[in-house]
Amino acid sequence: PLVLGIETSCDECAVAVVAGRPGAARILADVVWSQIDLHEAYGGVVPEIAARAHGETIDKVAAEALDQAGVDLGALDAVAATAGPGLLGGLLVGATFGKAVARAAGLPFVAVNHLEAHVLTPRLTDGVAFPYCVALLSGGHAQFVAVIGPGDYRRLGGTIDDAAGEAFDKTAKLLGLAYPGGPAVERAARSGDPKRFDFPTPLARREGCDLSFAGLKTAVRLAAERAAPLTETDVADICASFQDAVARLLTLKAARALEAFAAEAGTAPTALVVAGGVAANGVLRAALAGVAERAGTAFVAPPLRLCTDNGAMIAYAAIERRAAGSADGIETRVRSRWPLDGAAAPLIGAGK
Ligand code: ATP
Ligand code: FE
Ligand code: MG
Repeated sequence: PLVLGIETSCDECAVAVVAGRPGAARILADVVWSQIDLHEAYGGVVPEIAARAHGETIDKVAAEALDQAGVDLGALDAVAATAGPGLLGGLLVGATFGKAVARAAGLPFVAVNHLEAHVLTPRLTDGVAFPYCVALLSGGHAQFVAVIGPGDYRRLGGTIDDAAGEAFDKTAKLLGLAYPGGPAVERAARSGDPKRFDFPTPLARREGCDLSFAGLKTAVRLAAERAAPLTETDVADICASFQDAVARLLTLKAARALEAFAAEAGTAPTALVVAGGVAANGVLRAALAGVAERAGTAFVAPPLRLCTDNGAMIAYAAIERRAAGSADGIETRVRSRWPLDGAAAPLIGAGK
């Protein structure tokens, strides 16, 4: 099938056209209009500004995607949009736009769970076979997920406080670095000494693969206060040491996640996959690749453009859902919270 995918859950207004079937699909167009410059001055995404900007750009982005793909609405088989989790204003814009297009063109509408789209991405980019293990590390999430089959996702463990990207963003803000923090911290860390500060790896001693970043953030703040006024070297060393601590934590917990996976699925995963914007980080990717190698598991890191928010993953998730015979239709309401474990549950009328 040929599917139009719309993503507006956060600060990317994205529309894509994807063709194919589960495990064998290709992207015909993938347009991402990032709002980063609109939110930069605030050091984070402002929901009201995001919603308004989505409303102002969605039709142009959609038209560009259709144009790039060289298809018109009549050629499509379905229209999909993110229905959650995310910021309600933006979700409403994207889902309402998608429903309107679907109605006008007489096409089915598919409401997609944003997290499901992230964890299915390696099947779009690399045709990874079920079951596999995903480390979802994004601006709003940090969790290990067993992707058993379509609609069957089991959370193995995850953060009990901040998201992974949030930890990078807060660290950057504290050190006076640019927004978004992840790339800025990684850049600064390149010239820093990762051993100068001995930052903690929270929950290291706790069993299982839960994560925590709050204690690490506090340790960074204290170190920064103690070293103030900060020189460029201090900032670089703090960034390198912080990144090193996150890498050590993820190394430990990802290994445990693979063990938990085997217990949950009764078999080893076909791959360890990293998803979400934090996957852009080279040091963390290398750490996770090491874990996979030691466990004798393949390591898959989709292209960065498809690790961060995009419309292609939404269209692809709809292809998977429709092939599996389960799709949330036009009655589905947008929701700010929508846990992945519940993605397979019937959602029609939910939220009343
Ligand atoms: P979610 O998908 O959970 O709703 P989101 O859309 O905000 O959240 P993404 O767009 O996937 O998340 O990723 C953005 C996050 O990735 C930001 O927090 C950003 O700081 C982080 N990030 C981007 N590049 C890097 C990097 N090189 N190192 C670490 N973190 C990074
Ligand atoms: Fe996302
Ligand atoms: Mg984003």
